[in-house]
Amino acid sequence: MVILKSEEEIRCMAKASKLVADGLTMLKSMVCPGVLPVDLDSAAEDFIRTRGGIPAFKGYRGFPATLCVSVNDQVVHGIPLRRPLEKGDIVGLDLGAIVEGFYGDSAVTVAVGTISDDAQRLISVTEESLHQGIAKAVVGNRLSDISHAIQTYVEEAGFSIVREFVGHGIGRDLHEDPQIPNYGLPGQGPRLRKGMVLAIEPMVNEGAPDVRVLDDQWTAVTKDGSFSAHFEHTLVVMNGQPTILTQSS
Ligand code: MG
Ligand code: MG
Repeated sequence: MVILKSEEEIRCMAKASKLVADGLTMLKSMVCPGVLPVDLDSAAEDFIRTRGGIPAFKGYRGFPATLCVSVNDQVVHGIPLRRPLEKGDIVGLDLGAIVEGFYGDSAVTVAVGTISDDAQRLISVTEESLHQGIAKAVVGNRLSDISHAIQTYVEEAGFSIVREFVGHGIGRDLHEDPQIPNYGLPGQGPRLRKGMVLAIEPMVNEGAPDVRVLDDQWTAVTKDGSFSAHFEHTLVVMNGQPTILTQSS
């Protein structure tokens, strides 16, 4: 069941989302060759807790960290390691927080130092595909209009969409209905209504779409070893343009 949010609830959700957005801005400024993913994780946890939030992912179904750090061929849910980032890597940072009982969730993929043109294009196309999807998140459209816009944009650029993981509704739970696949035919699924809060999150592979999960039970990687990128925003469906809550000021 899709839970519509009142204006008061959306104000609360905006606080959690803003905290996540500001946290990601801080973390992006830390990313450079030599930095340890575990240090990004502890900086993320400090940032959230000192501002009165609770890390959303730590302990979620046993996930051990505040921040998901997914490097190169890692798609999502990377567990932060003590292995330094290197020039030429791309790194996905996925952060969630709880404030006043509501969740915010957002992700970015950033370059570590100078990266290849192909890797830069993967990042740019993935970020733009998120915005193509967000543009369809308006009252009266159907849910799969979002999915279709993302898939079309990504595949026309020559990349592929990961099927195994999807976007989601968000509110008092991290993952609420509806599930939001990043692929599909347009005009299907529930009609979008004012007050739906969605976390849209395309995961895009440079090569084939297939992924597998490592023995750590969390980290998803591309089967062919190609790079993968991930962007995510939490947003409110409105009449007309949606309001992105995880936008940094
Ligand atoms: Mg996320
Ligand atoms: Mg999410």
